[in-house]
Amino acid sequence: MQHISCKALIQHGSFINGSWQLHDNRFDVINPANQEVLAQVATATAADAEQAVLSAELAFAAWAAQPAAKRAEILQRWYQLIMQHQDDLARLLTLEQGKPLAEAKGEIAYGASYIQWFAEEAKRLYGDTIPAPSADKRIIVQRQPVGVVAAITPWNFPNAMIARKAAAALAAGCTFVVKPAQQTPLSALALAELADQAGIPAGVFNVVAGTDAKGIGEVLTRHEKVAKFSFTGSTAVGKQLLKQCADGVKRVSMELGGNAPFIVFDDADIDAAVQGLMLAKFRNAGQTCVCANRILVQRSVYQSFADKLAITMTQLTVADGLADGSQIGPLIDDKAVAKVTQLQQSALDQGATLLLGGGCHSAGKQFFQPTLISDVNADMAISKEEIFGPVAALMAFDTEQEAIELANNTEYGLAAYFYSRDIGRVFRVAQALQFGMVGINEGAISNAAAPFGGVKQSGYGREGSHYGLDDYTDIKYLCLGGL
Ligand code: NAP
Repeated sequence: MQHISCKALIQHGSFINGSWQLHDNRFDVINPANQEVLAQVATATAADAEQAVLSAELAFAAWAAQPAAKRAEILQRWYQLIMQHQDDLARLLTLEQGKPLAEAKGEIAYGASYIQWFAEEAKRLYGDTIPAPSADKRIIVQRQPVGVVAAITPWNFPNAMIARKAAAALAAGCTFVVKPAQQTPLSALALAELADQAGIPAGVFNVVAGTDAKGIGEVLTRHEKVAKFSFTGSTAVGKQLLKQCADGVKRVSMELGGNAPFIVFDDADIDAAVQGLMLAKFRNAGQTCVCANRILVQRSVYQSFADKLAITMTQLTVADGLADGSQIGPLIDDKAVAKVTQLQQSALDQGATLLLGGGCHSAGKQFFQPTLISDVNADMAISKEEIFGPVAALMAFDTEQEAIELANNTEYGLAAYFYSRDIGRVFRVAQALQFGMVGINEGAISNAAAPFGGVKQSGYGREGSHYGLDDYTDIKYLCLGGL
């Protein structure tokens, strides 16, 4: 933690109603690169979560009543403070999550860009007037903040997954309570410190950091004062939380798991496809929901694509995220290493071929070698589950129709990618892919101006873009009669 120069960013307890909750019952935050304890954070309980919800409820009326321009001004201040502290926030993020520092800096800027975007969008929360069916009536439509928003976020983007939700919620006039993943609470608490410095009023932005995910989750999904629940995480946990929200008929957004196909057609620019795959596969050591999971390559270009990819992959630097030039950091924990190892081994047992890598890296027990596997097929577990590690699995196909069928053969529908220079094929395939986001000759698709989200069991709701406010507003119809 000596790498962090602004010590105020290192906080050790939840942030509820504008104050830090410090007590002796603490949990360890571990650096995944070397398993050292980075910090101990006071463990929030379900009762703390309830207190956070009540403080958000108390703060709601005043925050919602602020002119949009005022909320925008405060959010802009938050954005600026985050960018001023980008280096420290990035180091903190790398320490607790593991990703290379350059990527962590990218995540801080990416998360902050949503705050900037929604600060601007806050002023454009337009309503509507609709021609009425009779002369004595007027129809007016207004958009109002839903109320208290509760959120639960994962460890793979400890800053951005919170910023993306909070930015839209606060811009719309909602108040916010988030439970970050227990492995990465420090980035969330640093965001709270800067929210406070930016002048976000007490109770408007609350962070509840604890290890009782189930207990805290019960409060955040069932409390009568929570109007909306937003979750980013695995599909399995998302399904459970959806059921909990159903009892209170809460509004819900779900950003869940993915199983992205990455298709390389025979007319593609193969070098560009390799570069695109490097972005789509190896960011965050393969631990993103939009990571390329199934790499489908047309048979006539399969060998040349595999050869070029192997050469490019050998140039990846695996090292502690704080080390100069690191491109692949550690996996988040032992369980992640075991899962990646097991998926790879079962593919090899069923006839896949190992071309590169294939096990832990000498950098440490949670570092996995960039690995390339060929001759994968759709029946293998590695094609059905999120790999969440730096393992690229190649599968051959013959026709466009076969590629589309293979790509859509999953219960997930978050991101897909394909490379082609045939304009007709580009439109046909883009239309046929059953995914919320499609990268066409592009491996990095996410930004604040674009709607991020999935279909099928990858969830619903959109984060970012002008659509992003919809999830945090209710439409109210006013009928003026007797005119
Ligand atoms: P996870 O196990 O579902 O955990 C996510 C969050 O849910 C954590 O804060 C966790 O808390 C909490 N949680 C776990 N069990 C819970 C329960 N019973 N009740 C309430 N909360 C509970 O997912 P993960 O392994 O951390 O994250 C990886 C997953 O997230 C992948 O599937 C990835 O694809 C997905 N993801 C999706 C997106 C997207 O935008 N679609 C973005 C990023 C990640 P604890 O940490 O305290 O256990």
